[in-house]
Amino acid sequence: MDIEQGFAMPLTAQTGDISPEEFRASAHAAVDWIADYLEHPERVPVKSRLQPGDIRRSLPASPPAAGEPLDAMLRDFQQTILPGITHWNHPSFFAYFANSSSYAAIIGELLTAAVNANGMLWVTSPAVTELEQVTLDWLRQLMGLGDGWFGEITDTASVSTFYALAAAREVAQPDIRARGMTGRVDVPVLRVYCSEHAHSSIDKAVIALGLGLDNLVKIAADEQFRMRPEALEAAIADDVARGFRPIAVVPCVGTTSSSSIDPVAEIVRVAKGHGCWVHVDTAYAGPAAIVPELRYLMDGVDGADSLVVNPHKWLFTPMDCSVLYTKRPEALRQAFALLPEYLVTKGQDDVVNLMDYGIQLGRRFRSLKLWMVLRAFGADGLAARIRFHCELAREFAGMVHFQGGWELMAPVPLSLVCFRYAPAGASEDDLARINATIMEHVNASGTAYLSHTKLNGKYTLRLAIGNIRTGREHVTAVWRELCAAAQAVGT
Ligand code: PLP
Repeated sequence: MDIEQGFAMPLTAQTGDISPEEFRASAHAAVDWIADYLEHPERVPVKSRLQPGDIRRSLPASPPAAGEPLDAMLRDFQQTILPGITHWNHPSFFAYFANSSSYAAIIGELLTAAVNANGMLWVTSPAVTELEQVTLDWLRQLMGLGDGWFGEITDTASVSTFYALAAAREVAQPDIRARGMTGRVDVPVLRVYCSEHAHSSIDKAVIALGLGLDNLVKIAADEQFRMRPEALEAAIADDVARGFRPIAVVPCVGTTSSSSIDPVAEIVRVAKGHGCWVHVDTAYAGPAAIVPELRYLMDGVDGADSLVVNPHKWLFTPMDCSVLYTKRPEALRQAFALLPEYLVTKGQDDVVNLMDYGIQLGRRFRSLKLWMVLRAFGADGLAARIRFHCELAREFAGMVHFQGGWELMAPVPLSLVCFRYAPAGASEDDLARINATIMEHVNASGTAYLSHTKLNGKYTLRLAIGNIRTGREHVTAVWRELCAAAQAVGT
């Protein structure tokens, strides 16, 4: 091929990026829009009111042949895309677990996109690896964990937990990496344990690792939805007697349905007695350990092998940012490290190459936004915000408790309140229908957004506080709306 010919196309407006002037103007406009949006997030309905297909129908079915100006895209973003956004940044977003952007983190995201670093190897951007390690060591200290934890950032708790259980499987049966698990009679059935209230990400990890859902043993919880260590002990002993091999236990500090806190220290004692890896799921509640009086949340965690915490939940860091800590990074390396020739770097045997600690090769510079959040608020500022959210949750729980016809469905150790409207004489089926209708009323209003769960088979409303912009007025407003909705629904 004629190389000259291959590059014959002249450098015109059709090649290269748009002009810096156009970028500068549009970027300033976008930042102005962001500042206005976050200053008044309640101007938009919290839950998108669009129907399935609305967004697709309002967009051209095929891409433009000629390039379009950036300001046209900004206009379409506001007019067409924004109505299809459910606003997790809205101060009355009380569904699931909170996840809010803060200004410092947004700047971090902007700079991350600008430098576009890929930290697959130390050498491909030393700052990506080293800032991640420093930032995660800061977070470890903030949460009151001891020394000896190695941290890495992943996208979600689901992936962090998958990695942790992959390491546990590797330690239990190292030859699976080479020989796999199928068609073998020499590998016993490998078993994993978690509470009946554990998050479905544990189930997914067990599926993905080929362990089989039947081998995820759900341990009964007590009346406060905490895993019962004696039930764990009995389940493991029973499995051992049947020839199964227990490999991992996953206690949770801050379960999704009720924010219950499993007794980690006792679970570690039982699990270690049987040689199991302990992975602690603190995806939601971990940041609360930054508050000195909530440090107890980490009791026993230093005896575990790994832990997941999500700054993209309660640490004011936008999606996505999950942190996996482990005391046994060599097990992660054993599970995942591979070195093809094209990734060999000479003379850097003593550096951390983050590609060795998981599936992904390319790696976003996620630590920058988290580092900026930790610096913008400091330990005291983070603790004050999280403490305030817990205070608001207790106040809301008080309103529920003292209002006739309503009841709390679980203790409120942190910032999640589980409750329902329970008029006298209504059956369980009626209560489920009434509370679902109340929630639909509130969610359709666009002024607040709640989600639900089931506790002991009972339909339960969840009010999860944790958004950086939530104030007392938002909590009292949603309570008024709930009461009005209950009156409208009646029995
Ligand atoms: N663990 C707990 C306790 C959770 O509440 C959640 C999500 O809410 C997860 C894990 C999964 O988090 P992610 O969406 O980051 O995978």
